[in-house]
This record gives sequence, structure tokens and C-alpha cells, in this order.
Amino acid sequence: MMKPSFNRDFKIPMRTTSVHTRKLQLPAFLIGTIILLATVFYFKSATSNAPADDYKPSTLSNVISIDLPSKSADTLPTPTIEKNSNNTISRASVQSTTTENQTSWKDYTVKPGDNLAKIFKQLKYSPTTLHNIIQLDDKTKALKNIKPGQTLRFAQNLNGECTALEYDLDRIKTLKIHSENAQFNAYITEKPVVITHETTTADINNSLFYDAKQAGLSDKTIMELANIFGWDIDFAQGLRQGDSFTLLYESKFVDGKRIENGHILAAEFINRGDAFKAVRFTDGNGNAEYFSPDGKSMRKTFLRNPIHFARVSSHFNLSRKHPILNRIRAHKGVDYAASSGTPIKSTGDGKVIFRGLKGGYGRVIIVQHGQKYSSLYAHMSKYGGYKKGARIKQGQTVGYVGKSGLATGPHLHYELRVNGVHRNPLTAKFPAAKPISKNLLAKFKQQTSPLLAQLEHAKQTQLALN
Ligand SMILES: [Zn+2]
Repeated sequence: MMKPSFNRDFKIPMRTTSVHTRKLQLPAFLIGTIILLATVFYFKSATSNAPADDYKPSTLSNVISIDLPSKSADTLPTPTIEKNSNNTISRASVQSTTTENQTSWKDYTVKPGDNLAKIFKQLKYSPTTLHNIIQLDDKTKALKNIKPGQTLRFAQNLNGECTALEYDLDRIKTLKIHSENAQFNAYITEKPVVITHETTTADINNSLFYDAKQAGLSDKTIMELANIFGWDIDFAQGLRQGDSFTLLYESKFVDGKRIENGHILAAEFINRGDAFKAVRFTDGNGNAEYFSPDGKSMRKTFLRNPIHFARVSSHFNLSRKHPILNRIRAHKGVDYAASSGTPIKSTGDGKVIFRGLKGGYGRVIIVQHGQKYSSLYAHMSKYGGYKKGARIKQGQTVGYVGKSGLATGPHLHYELRVNGVHRNPLTAKFPAAKPISKNLLAKFKQQTSPLLAQLEHAKQTQLALN
């Protein structure tokens, strides 16, 4: 069960908008200016053909339908902005446009097996023009990677010569090649990105990944959520029915269309009745980290699990019967079942003190974390980029899951030692990373309290709906 709601604030302190009515309550001029900019870009580039995101918040129509400031509307050869099913500007008005330079534009949809030479031949454009475009500079190399379904926009003059070519590199960037005085120039334009805030609340019934996906969250956002709370919550084993979360996150729009989620700004996760809350804080150097509302770091010195979402296939057990040796042999670590090639993260900052083969353990990496702790990762198929002696940060990849050494199938065997003694990494208590420094506390409160208020509002609204 989820209830996404959309709050637009365009990076200014948010106004409380009702989640139910989803009304836009923002300075129309600001929006108008942004829409105007987007419109100008659109008109010039004869619209985007980026694939439509199938997740379309209902507030989109609000963005499109805002009236342009009257002054600008007078001075612009206003393209007709229509709301069609994709919330994009109607293409029909652009395709037939002929400007004063007697240039007409046409769209070409790339077909399987197409390349630029074929397309130029089909459109009866000169191979010399193609050569001139391809040789222009590094930017035009992207044209070698055109894929079926993508659109190229061509301009031609009255003689049928190609005078311009435009290609959307992604949903923000467009490569434009225009001729001026018989000389082609290539440049890249970027559409303005509008960032809004969105909230989602979801209950956990199956798994974090499944339920968050059902709630419409992207893989990227789910991973970020798991990374924020991964120190406190065991997402592989520790979730229970009735757990829930509420998120406040950035949503990025281009031309009134949602293109992707940005960062999580604030989040609450209820796990087995305990509430964990986190908020994102960016310091003066642009470094962002998550803290509890009172300024404690969400990070611990150690990650609970070196792989997210992996099933624990064998627990820490000092009197286990070994599956291959078939005799009692303590299992001084935790096994994670994961497919071969899954990246394994270093659970803490440290230094690689061993990298190599170690008998039944196969390919092994050992990381030393300060004086007290060390972690070991075994059965890897491949090492990561860190050699013996290298510094490694928490979360960086030590290697990849495999079944080297004595292993019945691909899995990670992970060990943690504290002062040389094996400890159960799933239950060991880890110290927290550094809290927010005292001199930043005021700035922290100022930056995070509006975010936490928005999160709280989303939660209350959701509660009222239940
Ligand atoms: Zn093991």
C-alpha cells in the first residue's frame, strides 16, 4: 500500500501542500519562467523524443497548463502547447514548420540495422555532408551509437540539403549540429531540470525490495534507502510484517515530465516497532551525509552486511557440522548466498592486509580496520581494485561472489574479528561514525528541520488516510 504525493518547491522552502488535492501553490511567475525556458528549448529543438516514463504523477498537467507571463507570450511566436497523452508538446505543430530561412524539419526514427550512412542515403543527403559532420569533433561521435527507436531531427533547405541535425543524448542533453555559412558546428544543450519533493509511504509485506518497487520507487532510491539504514536494520533477515517506511526525496522533471528520482532527503523506517529517522545534510564543501534528527551519524564504523539483500545461508555457529568435510568444525563467520559476480563491500574503512589464495577459502581479502577490527571475505570469483596495502573505504568493492576454494556453490563467507577474536558480525555492536560537529549544528538544524517537517506531514497524512 502506498500513497505517493507530490510537493513542488523548486528548491525554495516548501509550502505545505495538501497531499489529497495535489494543488500547485507556487509563485506562478517562477514556474512560468521555467516553463517558458523549457518551451523555448523545445521549440528550437523541435521537441524531445525521450521515452516517456510510464510513471506519471497526476500533477504533471499543472506544470504544462500554467499560463506564460503575458509579456513573454506576446514576444514569442508561441508554439501551441497541447497536453497529449505523453504530456509533451504536440509534435504536429513543429513537424510542418518552415521558418523564414526556408528550413524545414523532419524527424527520422532509427530502424534496426540503420546507420548514419544509410539514413543519409535514404533522405538523399550528400555523403560529403555526413563526412563533414562526423569529422567535426568528439561530440559527434555519439552519432555512431544511434539505436533503433531513437529519433534524429534533420533540417533541410529548399535545395534538399541537410543544414542541421539534432539528437537527444539523454533526457537532458541534446547534441545539435547546425550549419552556418556552409560550416557545421556541434554543441550540446541541456534542458532545465526542475527538482520537486515527493513523498512515499509503504508497508513491508514481502521484502524491502519488492514492496518498495510496488510503491513505485526506483532501484536507485531503494538502494539509497538500504544504505541509509543498513547500519541499524538488517534488511536481509530482520524485517517483519508491519514494518513500514516513509520517504521524502527529490524528483527531477524535464519539460514537465519526470525523468528520475534524486536523493532521499529524509526518511523514517519502522522496524519491529522501533522508529529510525534520518535526514540528509550537505556541508559547506558539498559533502552530503545522513544523520539522525539530533545530529548523530547514521553511519556506523561497520556495515552490518557486506552484501545487501543477500540471504544468510549459514550463520555464525561455533559447533556446526561442515557440509563438505562432514565433521564438527566451527563456522566462525556468516555465509551469504548470492549469485556469482555480486559485488562484495568492505564493511568498514581500512587497509587491505591480505589478498590471495587461502586453502579452502579460495580467493580471500582481509581488511584491517584500525587496531581493533579486521574483516575477511572468502570464496571470491574475482578481486576488486584494491591490492595488498591499499586503503579502502567502507562500501567500496573488495571483490565479487564466487565459489573458489572449498564451496558447494557461489556464496560469500564473511568473518569479523575484534581484537583477534571471531565475532558474530550480525549481532556485534558497532560504534557510530562522527556526529555533526558543534559548529555546524545550527546550520544543520536550519537545513534539516523543513525536510523533517515535510516527512512528518506525509506520515500524518498517510495515517489519516488509513
Ligand atoms: Zn562460511
